Amino acid sequence: MRPLVASIDLAAVRHNYALAKRCAPGRQAFAVVKANAYGHGLREVVTALFDEADGFAVACLEEAAQVRAMHGRARILLLEGCFEVGEYRMAAQLQLDVVLHSALQVEQLLASELARPVNVWLKLDSGMHRLGLDEATLRDCHARLQGAAQVAELNLLSHFACADERGHSLTELQLERFLDVLDLPFDQRSLANSAAVLMIPAAHMDWLRPGIMLYGASPFAELSAAELGLQPVMSLTAELIAVREIAAGETVGYGAGWQAERPARIGTVSCGYADGYPRHAPAGTPVWVAGVSVPLVGRVSMDMLCVDLSDHPGAEVGDAVELWGANLSVDRVAQASGTIGYELLTKVTARVPRRYR
Ligand SMILES: *Cc1c(COP(=O)(O)O)cnc(C)c1O
Repeated sequence: MRPLVASIDLAAVRHNYALAKRCAPGRQAFAVVKANAYGHGLREVVTALFDEADGFAVACLEEAAQVRAMHGRARILLLEGCFEVGEYRMAAQLQLDVVLHSALQVEQLLASELARPVNVWLKLDSGMHRLGLDEATLRDCHARLQGAAQVAELNLLSHFACADERGHSLTELQLERFLDVLDLPFDQRSLANSAAVLMIPAAHMDWLRPGIMLYGASPFAELSAAELGLQPVMSLTAELIAVREIAAGETVGYGAGWQAERPARIGTVSCGYADGYPRHAPAGTPVWVAGVSVPLVGRVSMDMLCVDLSDHPGAEVGDAVELWGANLSVDRVAQASGTIGYELLTKVTARVPRRYR
């Protein structure tokens, strides 16, 4: 078998969910499991949180149906609501909580004949300007939905654009705009993503929506997951499949993109961009080889990448390599390659077998 596996520590998911809950005593939390639980496996993560989670949040009806098939009782929040009018009936059948982010969605819900009313989350565009209603439209929609046959709970939700940058002025403004509409009667309120769960108690409201923190990555550039008390969940591990000595001046990989300034010892690792390792990771990106952090060299290829073992003379073929995980945080690799942990985790491809602990 090709030596590459994503090991998933489900006890760490439970630890991280419990940590989110401890940040906001007495509040409830939707575990955000969209995008195949950020690449970790929807089925396994939902099963791991089966008893603990107050609810789950997903991006679409297809994901919601998968969660519902596993969990008959849990609240399941459809973060973007329905994409077409026919979906409301399905959402009601599956007993989903539905976001309404536009006047069109409100009309479509009110035009639907549902087997049972659904919990509705009116989404306020508090400043991110991606989805949501402006304040005036939200007030209008609230009046139309209150007491409607299709509506069970009438709730309020919004989303932060910059909660990951501590002290950002937009965060304060968004919180103010959220508080401004709380004169309306809402059953439940939800505002906090992971960053706000960890750092903005005033945004905790009734329901948290932690995502990335469940998977043991940090939402903050300047604060590590370990400093936040989070446990890493995925370890992407490979092996050294070849080792060679090259002379100074020789190059490594496609495009001869890296040149040895001194005689070098080059290791080849069984992981490439077709596994989800970022092709744009530059030379110097850390890779953990048999207990030591060594630099990536040369271009990442489809199935392999190379590292400079010159300062790690003990490393040999067959040694374990961690691309990220318990020894090397996904956030460090993300930072080195100009992206975020979210992207690396969600992009681990289907050909990488997941092994669950
Ligand atoms: C994805 C998502 C979240 C979770 O965000 P994290 O930064 O991963 O905690 C919360 N709310 C909404 C609306 C989302 O789309």
